[in-house]
Amino acid sequence: MKSSLLLFFMFSISMGYGQKEKYKGQGPIRIVATDSKPVQKQWKGEFKFSNSGVVFSNEFEGARLNGITQNNDSTYTALITSENTPINISPWYAFKVWSKKKQTIDVILTYQESIKHRYYPKLSTDGIHWSVLDSMRYKEYDSGNTKTFGSSALPLKVKLRLDIGPDTLWVAGQELQNSHLVNSWIDSLTQRKYITKRTIGKSTEGRHLNMISVGNTDSKNMIMIISRQHPPEVTGYLAMKAFVETIASDSKLAKKFRKKFGTYVVPLMNPDGVDNGFWRHNTGGIDLNRDWANFNQPETRAVKDFMEGLVAKNNGKFYFGIDFHSTWDDIYYTVDPKLKGNMPNLVSDWLDKLRENIEGYDPNISPNDKLVPTTVSRNYFFIEHGAEALVFEVGDNTPREFLKEKAVTGANELMKLMLKHIKNK
Ligand SMILES: [Zn+2]
Repeated sequence: MKSSLLLFFMFSISMGYGQKEKYKGQGPIRIVATDSKPVQKQWKGEFKFSNSGVVFSNEFEGARLNGITQNNDSTYTALITSENTPINISPWYAFKVWSKKKQTIDVILTYQESIKHRYYPKLSTDGIHWSVLDSMRYKEYDSGNTKTFGSSALPLKVKLRLDIGPDTLWVAGQELQNSHLVNSWIDSLTQRKYITKRTIGKSTEGRHLNMISVGNTDSKNMIMIISRQHPPEVTGYLAMKAFVETIASDSKLAKKFRKKFGTYVVPLMNPDGVDNGFWRHNTGGIDLNRDWANFNQPETRAVKDFMEGLVAKNNGKFYFGIDFHSTWDDIYYTVDPKLKGNMPNLVSDWLDKLRENIEGYDPNISPNDKLVPTTVSRNYFFIEHGAEALVFEVGDNTPREFLKEKAVTGANELMKLMLKHIKNK
């Protein structure tokens, strides 16, 4: 991580933690139809301004820039819109910009009606290493009037001051993690002989739904990990990566765990959405995390078929299921602890271990006992498989080092608890 990024997040932690109101979590899950609906694809290409020599581009996977106009010599207004509506406020943006001569420009980010600016701008010169925009170069308009979470806390639009020149500058809402980068990560893991990759299905646009298995794939003891149903939720994805890398590591604990358990991971549930720069949905125009009862979409169906096939093949059970997301602030959406699955109390014991092992940390937990119709992945994991399940939500601005620490500690404590459970059986 670049030091400026780290500094920003350290700044945000010192400003926020302990002082701000606790995030109360989302309201009840709305049950919606999940039959496919049309989505609007963005025009792809270069937006060139001949008087200034400035070029904006959305020609890359994960880009989102729907239009841009020039206000004056050095100011541009970008329009960012969603794939369809209704949609929640997760307005993803990502574009490249350059010009023949060095110059400083202002870019105003605007969104469709009723949508406000959410993701603090990140910059990169190679599309891989990112830093946050200097706060002196960031201006909010019609800022939110509350310090709480959600739409009322957001500005209507923002202005970014950027230094540009012949080298490409990347600008995005979070660190770009498109399917190409996710697949490189998968390929780096499968160098190890105990990790394999397979395709469990294809998205509507034909992208592979890749699944990695870690450890003993003949074991009857299984755990399921998914992430990125929602494209912009990069912080959840980063936590998932650190979690999986810990289970895949060379530690004694991880080796022992891999002998006893098979871990199955779908790191990128929505590759079409991610590569199209969608805000929330897949190519079917659907929030995948509302489709775990009806399974109308190929991505959710592939995971269901995979899990059910594996249970039959191994005559085994999923003991744990976790789905990584991002939201306004860190929160754990759990199954009410009075409901017992295949390894009762696992999740509440695990969250206690997180509290014990991370100094000064008090996990924000929101339990739920309304699990039918299953609708979301957590409910499907629990109701159909008996897997102790939760949604692991990471804040948009959670410091990257801290989200890693939570994920690494979380994976280690989970492995210890699960090994203890099967020993006692
Ligand atoms: Zn989400």
